[in-house]
Amino acid sequence: MNLVINQDRLNSEIEALAAFSDAEPPAVTRVVFTPTDLKARAWIRERCEDAGLAVRQDAIGNTFARWVGADPEAPLVGTGSHIDAIPNAGKYDGVVGVLGGLEAIRALQDAGFRSKHSIELLIFTSEEPTRFGIGCLGSRLLAGTLSADAARKLTDNDGASIENVRRKAGFTGGLEEVRLPSGYYKAFVELHIEQGPLLEREQKPLGVVERIAAPASMRVLIEGAGGHAGGVLMPDRRDALCAAAEVILAIEQAVRSSGAVDTVATVGICDVFPGAVNSIPATVRLSVDIRDTDLQRRDRVMKTLDEVCRAVSAKRQVFIHSDLVNADVPADCAPAIAATLALTCEKHGFSFLRMTSRAYHDSLFISRIAPVAMLFIPCRNGYSHRPDEYASPEDIARGTLVLAETLAALAA
Ligand SMILES: [Zn+2]
Repeated sequence: MNLVINQDRLNSEIEALAAFSDAEPPAVTRVVFTPTDLKARAWIRERCEDAGLAVRQDAIGNTFARWVGADPEAPLVGTGSHIDAIPNAGKYDGVVGVLGGLEAIRALQDAGFRSKHSIELLIFTSEEPTRFGIGCLGSRLLAGTLSADAARKLTDNDGASIENVRRKAGFTGGLEEVRLPSGYYKAFVELHIEQGPLLEREQKPLGVVERIAAPASMRVLIEGAGGHAGGVLMPDRRDALCAAAEVILAIEQAVRSSGAVDTVATVGICDVFPGAVNSIPATVRLSVDIRDTDLQRRDRVMKTLDEVCRAVSAKRQVFIHSDLVNADVPADCAPAIAATLALTCEKHGFSFLRMTSRAYHDSLFISRIAPVAMLFIPCRNGYSHRPDEYASPEDIARGTLVLAETLAALAA
């Protein structure tokens, strides 16, 4: 099979999609279910229909474009990503996996390939948490890790319920019907920009992802006692910020001493109340984000956080309460799919890096119902989620070629 990726067409489609934006170019802002997002969706649907794909949309707007195989009843081979973009983002995050997936299918069609299994392009709704505060909304519902009931309780930043927002956008079915049966996909492969600097640093054009890290996030509330910065002497203080400092450093120490490079923890928010120069901090709110590729190791850090909170609370006579916001499960990519990706790279003489995805993607959730793998391409300086995000047409075409051949091997 002689596969040819139409690099010019793919590149011009990426440019065309970037024009559906609520920000000045080169920035892209495309928030889920805004008029701009709906126009972009319609444009992509048209491209898929032009390619002879059968398009359907579910109740949350996940879009499925299927190239029906010789055995329409056989489990499908899936590929895809997302087209929503956070405010002032770039053109490539998610988009490469969607338009690259479409181009891969068209290249297989043009080469006269005929598969046994149907190949399906999946465009996930709201990978970004911008509007509803939760990332991977579409894939969570597909995998059943978010129930329809829990989803219905979500509201957007203006307080509008998800039910109103999606119905207004034209998606009216029952959320219960979104969940896919396990076994629906035989395999799922997501092409994505790396969003980190490793491929560029190692001068590798491709990355075969073997693990996807997952975050757990907590809110920690620390209540001490406020007072006058001059009047209250040190032995009488119950300073909430000093307690917070101990908690933050203890978490850092626990993660650093674990010895595993994949374990990371970040305190990104520290709100101090009342926040005045001459007032002892009475209350502190922290956010803690802990990520790992290994669930047990990550859960051990979470346990350490609990222990640290108890110890600091006793020592400093402050009240500490921690709330779990979410704890997603890391995923291993399916070795057989990763091997197919690697073999395809080798066949073409493309060097590649075996790597971990430290950001999470829709594939993390699809891994709950299907074997998944991911293929990364470099992005300049590792930049992502900013207007100067850039992946070269050559790198995108190379990734698309490897994707296409991998889909063909999986669907044969
Ligand atoms: Zn993405």
